[in-house]
Amino acid sequence: MVLDSDFSKRLYQDYLMYRENNLTKRRFKHSDILPLIERLKDKDIFKVNKVGESVGGRSINLVTYGEGEIPVFLWSQMHGDESTATMAIFDIFNFLSANDDFNPCRKKFSKKLKIYFMPMVNPDGAELFQRETALNIDINRDAARTQTTEAKVLFEVFNSVKAKFGFNLHDQDRVYSAGQSHRSAAISFLAPPFNFNRDINKTRGDAMKLIVKMNEILMQFIPGHIAKYTDEFEPRAFGDNFQKLGTSTILIESGSWHEDPEKQFIRKLNFIALLAAFKSISDGSYKKNEIDSYNKIPDNQKNMMDLVIRNVKYTWGDKEYYIDLGINRTEVNINGSHKFYYESMLEEIGDLSVFHGYEDYDFEGCSIHPGKIYGREFESPEEIKKIDFISLYSQGYLFIKLFNQQTREDLYNLPINIVLNNSSPKSVVLKAGSRANFYIEKNGQIEYVVVNGFMFNLRSKTGEIKNGLSFYDI
Ligand SMILES: [Zn+2]
Repeated sequence: MVLDSDFSKRLYQDYLMYRENNLTKRRFKHSDILPLIERLKDKDIFKVNKVGESVGGRSINLVTYGEGEIPVFLWSQMHGDESTATMAIFDIFNFLSANDDFNPCRKKFSKKLKIYFMPMVNPDGAELFQRETALNIDINRDAARTQTTEAKVLFEVFNSVKAKFGFNLHDQDRVYSAGQSHRSAAISFLAPPFNFNRDINKTRGDAMKLIVKMNEILMQFIPGHIAKYTDEFEPRAFGDNFQKLGTSTILIESGSWHEDPEKQFIRKLNFIALLAAFKSISDGSYKKNEIDSYNKIPDNQKNMMDLVIRNVKYTWGDKEYYIDLGINRTEVNINGSHKFYYESMLEEIGDLSVFHGYEDYDFEGCSIHPGKIYGREFESPEEIKKIDFISLYSQGYLFIKLFNQQTREDLYNLPINIVLNNSSPKSVVLKAGSRANFYIEKNGQIEYVVVNGFMFNLRSKTGEIKNGLSFYDI
């Protein structure tokens, strides 16, 4: 018998052999996965059924593998902008289709399990890369009422499959840490409760035991980076309802990892955790785990920020203060497309010792100053594109004035902030709730600038300012 830990280590090493190379970024559409689903129809080991359509007329498909007695159901991307596990599901299809040393394991899955995959429950949401459906309804608050077409499809399949185990696959915010640590919650698990009391019955208990198994497996690769999602009962959510109806349901939240913006490492972790779960279900090994070990998994805490700057000197009046600053960035979709720009937020100023930044700098001995507005006025974005930005940064200019501009469209890719048209710029201030635009000085020399939450190091000329923002008034 292959040990669970050996099995997962080999999966970890050999992952690239199974990775679906047509999916490499978080933002993809229904039209990107359709040819991959079509391809599965040629393989005898899969059954592919169209089980419904989104309100926008896009197909929702169910892929079935195995002939066993234990039904397992996985569904992903009911939130259109949470696509990490969908990528992992296509990796799993490649794994199941391959012919190599893992054959005994495939044979076992096929003999013991009947696995139903529903990738991309919300294709219209994926089209716009937004959480909700085309009707702007959150499917995961529609399990009780099932008004949306997509929720109906999901519930119908759930009722027909009668799964022993269910996997509810989502993505969570970047802010989560594993407990009170400075480590990002790369994966968070939850055995959703089935009532307000959060009681534990056999169904929920089995989900907890399987989570303990998956946690044990992932701990080999990402120790300290696994957490538990909050377990308040949500009567409108699918996981909570499916648990109540007797399917041991596991929520997997794909979180964040340093320098992995496209979540390709998190995708790999999903691949490993899910295959390890299939193995454990097929040989029953999860039953030996203790529910108590589930309770010991640290809770999700909000300790992470995108950028934390520490110990900078800030002068107010004639006094000096030492402060930390915490900044987050959000992706904002442009016109409901897959194009986006970043918007920064200065979350907090003061003592940020409880937070940790994906980028985290100690600037002791340096002073901080709000970005300045460049005096000259420009006529067009083309004119601005010719500017030597580094020269402006090194003088503290992080804003430039632009006249005669009708649209913001072509401003999203400039590495500087724009003050538009005839607005009269006031002075820029450092304030929680505002955008993050400032520079850091050492011995009278500007060494770093932060433009819209992105840092550039003027000494080493490193860093990437993805975009500034445009303002009518600042
Ligand atoms: Zn979600």
